[in-house]
Amino acid sequence: MQHFPIAMYHYRRRMTREVGFGPISLGGYRPIRVESMTTTHTMDTKASVEQCRRLYEAGCEIIRLTVPTEKDAGNLRFIRDQLRRDGITTPLVADIHFSQKAALKAVEFVENVRINPGNYANTRKFSNEDYSDEAFRVEYEKVREEFVPLIAKAKEYGVSMRIGTNHGSLSDRIVSRYGNTPDGMVEAALEFARICEDEGYHDILFSMKSSNVRVMIQAYRLLVVKADTELRHAYPLHLGVTEAGDGDEGRIKSAMGIGALLEEGLGDTIRVSLTEDPVNEVPVGFALVKKYNDYWKVKGEKAHVPVNELIEPKSVQSSFAMPPFDPFSYRRRRTRVIAAGPDNIGGENLPIVETTAGKHAESGETLLEELRSRLAFGSPDAVVRSEHVTVPVSSPGEVETLGTILDELGEYRNRIGAAVQDLALAGGLLDIVDRVRVDIKEGEMIEKNLFDSLHDRGALIEFCFVHENASVNVPAEVLTKIASKLKDRGMQRVLFSVDSSAAVYAYRYLVGNFNDAGLDYPLVIRYRARNMGRLETLIACAIQCGTLFCDGIGDMLGLETDFPGSEEAGLAFNILQAARVRMSKTEFISCPGCGRTYFDLEKTAAVIKSRMSHLKGLKIGIMGCIVNGPGEMADADFGYVGSGKGGVSLYVGKACVESNIPEKDAVEKLVELIKSHGRWVDPPQ
Ligand code: SF4
Repeated sequence: MQHFPIAMYHYRRRMTREVGFGPISLGGYRPIRVESMTTTHTMDTKASVEQCRRLYEAGCEIIRLTVPTEKDAGNLRFIRDQLRRDGITTPLVADIHFSQKAALKAVEFVENVRINPGNYANTRKFSNEDYSDEAFRVEYEKVREEFVPLIAKAKEYGVSMRIGTNHGSLSDRIVSRYGNTPDGMVEAALEFARICEDEGYHDILFSMKSSNVRVMIQAYRLLVVKADTELRHAYPLHLGVTEAGDGDEGRIKSAMGIGALLEEGLGDTIRVSLTEDPVNEVPVGFALVKKYNDYWKVKGEKAHVPVNELIEPKSVQSSFAMPPFDPFSYRRRRTRVIAAGPDNIGGENLPIVETTAGKHAESGETLLEELRSRLAFGSPDAVVRSEHVTVPVSSPGEVETLGTILDELGEYRNRIGAAVQDLALAGGLLDIVDRVRVDIKEGEMIEKNLFDSLHDRGALIEFCFVHENASVNVPAEVLTKIASKLKDRGMQRVLFSVDSSAAVYAYRYLVGNFNDAGLDYPLVIRYRARNMGRLETLIACAIQCGTLFCDGIGDMLGLETDFPGSEEAGLAFNILQAARVRMSKTEFISCPGCGRTYFDLEKTAAVIKSRMSHLKGLKIGIMGCIVNGPGEMADADFGYVGSGKGGVSLYVGKACVESNIPEKDAVEKLVELIKSHGRWVDPPQ
């Protein structure tokens, strides 16, 4: 069996070196730590101490502060001393961009320093200059020269270091050779790590952040594969999605990127970055890591797999089998196309959103009301609606009731499916609905004559394996047997799904088995999140469904939650948008702000969102500072970037087209700019 060095089919945490952060440490057998970052100016001691105190009271385990200059670095002493006097021992991290002097000073007062390989002793002017081998080498030697003193001082003070690469802020040298790609991000980090190891310094960890969730996931995987092969130790990882934004969208994006990697056993500390009060980041972070830290509490050391022990024992082997998709670049799984009512499922078609009605068919009138509301009946322009709804049916009487109410839905009736557990009911339903989902469990037999009756009527049928206690690979084995039989009979119109709390692993097994058997039926990604809090529901759905879409798996998304219908559909659209497989509204890429921000970022982001959230498919960056903003907003079409006190610069792609305009005029100017590029449409009335 071929092995992949990351656990793709079961939870196994990657065993890393333990790295100190003053009074705590992370990696190894330590819990996954939750970090946040202040938004105050680091020269403002009082405000910074106050925000650190609020973060500490919220439970934050690591606090990062921006350090733009040597002067700010010097002021860290006063912040640290006040916090320690107040009994707050939370480790502090100095966030450094560009300034080696600031880094060298900050080391004296913090427990960890974060440097960005894209701008630490590297040039970054977005030039397209080609580097010859010699020019590349000379600049790398310059980096080494400037980096070694920082390493020496970090060793002297017992301070650890994060090599924090960001997509969009790579050096010109790296971009010239590797492009703005996960490969470039990984190489940028490895260059610095090699220097650390050459100097005998091993207190390091890595991060590979991006605002594009797919790029972020791929970059971390690539880093683990390359770094664990080449470097002397498996170093810990700090996980985060940059510029995730605010509200549900920000939480979903972060949960998807961070959660996808946590599911694969990667990550030793996380930051959920939101364009909100940083205190709000902390409970989201703890909700995200809870499942994995709890698992460790139960399983102890068995939850961890040292990197050099991937081959034994046997149960561990299957966790590390090759994934059935490309883990380093996005490619959608190839499937056949199947018509479902007014839509097509599979192939290149956008994934469809489906939800399940809470009311059973027995409830007649109330069910009709619910279906109308879920489908936004009579509102053809509604953006948030279930495109298909499935109704659970459990008796012949309910089949009849469903039949009588469907006519009331007119042209919407072909968006209604039914779900049955009793196979005998399936046949009767095929006459009245367009799609029937058959829920099957381990050990259940599918009668031969059911296949025959489906075949004769050309019905669209979905087989959903309800996964309860069986091993996580069982759904794949059962569904592959059914699918192979249907393929032999020449049946075209079939969908498959798994209803599992471990959806990521169960679908990976399913895709692997389908690939081996040459089956190209489309998949409905299903996830049931019942009896959970609101935040926990967002997180679980984002991880279990979003991870799969990021890996190119899934042709339809079916959620079942305790949310009202439109909110549930909204969650599904947000997941598809965050995975960038279906853009149903404007994509906002907004940073959380920090001490480099000189305007009210949260308020401005809210104003821009309220004016521009109808611009479907457009990507708008809202960034706190001109130092890092233009790079970090990555692939935004337009950018609103703070450029010092009271000033804002506007960008089209990476080009600054208006600089330093007064803040009070900037939103209107942005609207004009979008209009002048023909990308504006008036909002629906
Ligand atoms: S882009 Fe935002 S978070 Fe990043 S350094 Fe600038 S203001 Fe701070």
